[in-house]
Amino acid sequence: MKILYVENDKNLIACIDKHCSKSIHEVILIENIKDALLFLKESNEIELIITEVNHLELDILSYLKEIRKLKKDIPIIITTDSDIQVSLEEFSQLNILSVLKKPFNFEKLRSLIEKLDEKKKDSHIKQEIRELKLFMELFKEFSFYSETDLEGKIVDISDSFCDLVGFKKDELIGKKHSILKHPMEDNTKYKEIWKNLLEGKNWIGELRCLDKLGNDIWYKTIIFPKKNENKKIIGYGAKRQDITEKKYLELLSITNDLTGLYNKRFFKQTMENEKNRSKREKKNLVFIMIDVDNFKKFNDLYGHLKGDEVLKQIAEILKINSRRTNDFAFRLGGEEFAIITSNLSLSKIIKYTEKIRKDVLNKKIEHLKNENIGFVTVSIGVFNYKSEMNYGCEEIYKFADIALYEAKNSGRNKVVIY
Ligand code: GH3
Ligand code: MG
Ligand code: MG
Repeated sequence: MKILYVENDKNLIACIDKHCSKSIHEVILIENIKDALLFLKESNEIELIITEVNHLELDILSYLKEIRKLKKDIPIIITTDSDIQVSLEEFSQLNILSVLKKPFNFEKLRSLIEKLDEKKKDSHIKQEIRELKLFMELFKEFSFYSETDLEGKIVDISDSFCDLVGFKKDELIGKKHSILKHPMEDNTKYKEIWKNLLEGKNWIGELRCLDKLGNDIWYKTIIFPKKNENKKIIGYGAKRQDITEKKYLELLSITNDLTGLYNKRFFKQTMENEKNRSKREKKNLVFIMIDVDNFKKFNDLYGHLKGDEVLKQIAEILKINSRRTNDFAFRLGGEEFAIITSNLSLSKIIKYTEKIRKDVLNKKIEHLKNENIGFVTVSIGVFNYKSEMNYGCEEIYKFADIALYEAKNSGRNKVVIY
């Protein structure tokens, strides 16, 4: 603490000097009140004023009021030789901490200073707690925070997160996070999250959710167990980063404008990933190529715009038929599409691809130049890649293409499995 000590008694000054050398406080000794007032005017660091009030050029009250004009809140301790003629009321108005009659015991002064020190520390701690609380609030708001009890029911949620998902706070408190779960999100992810949390570990990853209106929201999240002082888990917290925009841009770069299906670039990447996954999980990968029959003739007869409409309709059928987590539907180019799916028995593959073929036919889109059927149809070539096989992506593609060629050659509107 920085203390201003005003004293002109030479003996006392020597004594103060002696005590100062032992003190942890910084004491500035000034001998007359004029200099003291000048100093206070200049300095902003003084935290305590100890001043004698005898031999004053001014009367005591004017002097103290002068100090208060300069420093409203600094505690003041007065030292005096004689009784002073100031009422208690006036003193308390001036907020005088104490009056020490000379000769006083330095221990008494020390204990007054120590008390002030304690008070200062206390107010520091309180201030720090206040700041910490404010920081926590800001942190929660900034990071789309939520907290659940052990059963996963939401007990705290930031306004920012409520805004993000379009729910009111009381619509979410007491509910589980599954209220926001996206139907296409991988269930194994949720299993993994719970496994980690129950083991006391964090989970970091990306999650796709639905807001109240059914829009996709993507966030990167860290979910962590909250523990009490005995390290017992008492609930779970999660903070998030909204990455919807980034995901949307990513999606734009891997999808095709006309149909909204994945594009050829993403196809190459997915094929590689899925092939590796098939090896890892020892499940088959099913690669399906779909090509519109006599589509050139359709364009010639009905025009390119109508042709585009047909491609969109077929894309919709493929989307509807590829809704499992590891299903992917692509437009590879022109009127050629593909689906990558997995973990299907041969009979299921036949059922699945036949359904796609029939779904297109059953749309009954007129195409008078398509063989003798009269409607738009597709031919489908399939390759069933078993995990123990050792083919590269290009070979898998080639085998499905051969099957497709076979389907075309044997009259179109057919499924052929290689
Ligand atoms: P096949 O039954 O043997 O597949 O005959 P096809 O006429 O469908 O095949 P071909 O490869 O000879 O012609 C494909 C046609 O697809 C040519 C082109 O006019 C049409 N096409 C390709 N991309 C588009 C497109 O984006 N929009 C439209 N409207 N037509 C397209
Ligand atoms: Mg074609
Ligand atoms: Mg073609």
